[in-house]
Amino acid sequence: MANPNSTTIKFQSGEQIPVELHKVRIVQKLFLKPIEERMQAIEKAGFNTFLLNTKDIFLDMLTDSGTNAMSDNQVSSMLQADDAYAGSQSFYKMEQALQDVFGKHYVLPVHQGRAAENIISQVFIKKGDVIPMNYHFTTTKEHMELNGGKVLEIYTDEALKIKSDVPFKGNIDIDKLKSVFAEYGKDHVAFVRMEASTNLIGGQPFSMQNLRDVKKIAEENDTMLVLDASLIGENAYFIKKREPEFRDAEIKDILLEMCSYADLVYFSSRKVSSTRGGGIVTNSKDLFLKMRDLLVLFEGFLTYGGMSVREIEAMAVGINETCDDTVISQSPSFIEYAVNSLDAAGVPVITPAGALGCHVDSMGFLPHIPQEAYPAGALAAAMYIISGVRGMERGTISSVRDENCNDILADVELLRLAFPRRVFTLSQTMFVVDRLKWLYKNRELVGGLKWVEEPPLLRFFMGRLTSTTDWPQKLVAKFKEDFGESL
Ligand SMILES: *Cc1c(COP(=O)(O)O)cnc(C)c1O
Repeated sequence: MANPNSTTIKFQSGEQIPVELHKVRIVQKLFLKPIEERMQAIEKAGFNTFLLNTKDIFLDMLTDSGTNAMSDNQVSSMLQADDAYAGSQSFYKMEQALQDVFGKHYVLPVHQGRAAENIISQVFIKKGDVIPMNYHFTTTKEHMELNGGKVLEIYTDEALKIKSDVPFKGNIDIDKLKSVFAEYGKDHVAFVRMEASTNLIGGQPFSMQNLRDVKKIAEENDTMLVLDASLIGENAYFIKKREPEFRDAEIKDILLEMCSYADLVYFSSRKVSSTRGGGIVTNSKDLFLKMRDLLVLFEGFLTYGGMSVREIEAMAVGINETCDDTVISQSPSFIEYAVNSLDAAGVPVITPAGALGCHVDSMGFLPHIPQEAYPAGALAAAMYIISGVRGMERGTISSVRDENCNDILADVELLRLAFPRRVFTLSQTMFVVDRLKWLYKNRELVGGLKWVEEPPLLRFFMGRLTSTTDWPQKLVAKFKEDFGESL
């Protein structure tokens, strides 16, 4: 059944087209630079899209973190902010909004999502503990390991398949969860972590039923369930769309039910409420008190947690807007359009379409590049060169090395093209699809990458690489031959 509040609308042709259910009132000028300049820019950036300057970028699809468009109501709320170190009225507004949306009483504000991970990991993980989860996130894993914990990914067999029509690839495998408790014993399981719309495996959601089953096992073992809610709005949207029981449910009620199973909910507000900041919420006074002192130590006083009062105001408004179908469906609708168009053209992308972005399977796209030469990084660089579109490598470069200094080859090599909420239009989306299709036709021209400068920790952020051959020059020459110009 069509969702009357969805952003996708049927045209006369029968085609489902995403339509912007908002109008643009403030704009930012963009530049599409000639391909020769883009080529110089990526060389200067060490073939790492994180090191590009946005003046050289046409469509910035690096991430949805801190890049969602704010609403008029969010921007205007920032003018009313109450500047105070302690007891700011802005905080109490935000606290109320978070209590309403997440159904949790105690609110700990932090400056962004990873700050919540830092506090939770320090307080609840002891050396030798394991943390079972549907899938890790980069900063989550680092924080857990820094505190002596070990991440156990217990996804289902379907999770890493590129092409699939399984609606909930973000589910935890319940049998594996039972085995974790049997093998390690509940005293060595710090907590169970569920990540909404699993970021690193294609923005794939979990189902409510799976969350209920996970909760049951956790409860039987007196173990906390922690929910990473950074992309919870989208996960709720997919539950409504794909889980029959929730077809007629309100997003607001789905969110409340999801959070009701978690002892702790933490989030990056850069994503879930289209502003900066983040937070941890819980109904347990005991858990709140365990985290409170670290909050003051690392983030700031309890009523601002490292955020500015303006961001706090915008978060209060933004978190409520996440419950609006037309807001929360926008990004998934555009992603679905891009994914289905690319899939129809034979370009390997993760299906079904998920949250956050369009995820291109780089091993399927560039089978001639071995994982040691970083196909996803090469594809990100090639896509930028030929289109000015900046995506993010989510593969082996985003991973680490083992104790023998060998790369730990990633399960999947993805180029992620993020669709921050309400930022890009349909013609821009069509441009992305068109250029990716061209690149796919010319894929043999793309070669690998190798390190020039490799930092030991989170190397994907700051590391510099170079091309293994002169493939970028050949790609530029072919582009100019085919398009007859440099744009
Ligand atoms: C982005 C993200 C984080 C970290 O949030 P930041 O605000 O960028 O620090 C944590 N978990 C998930 C699932 C995320 O997507």
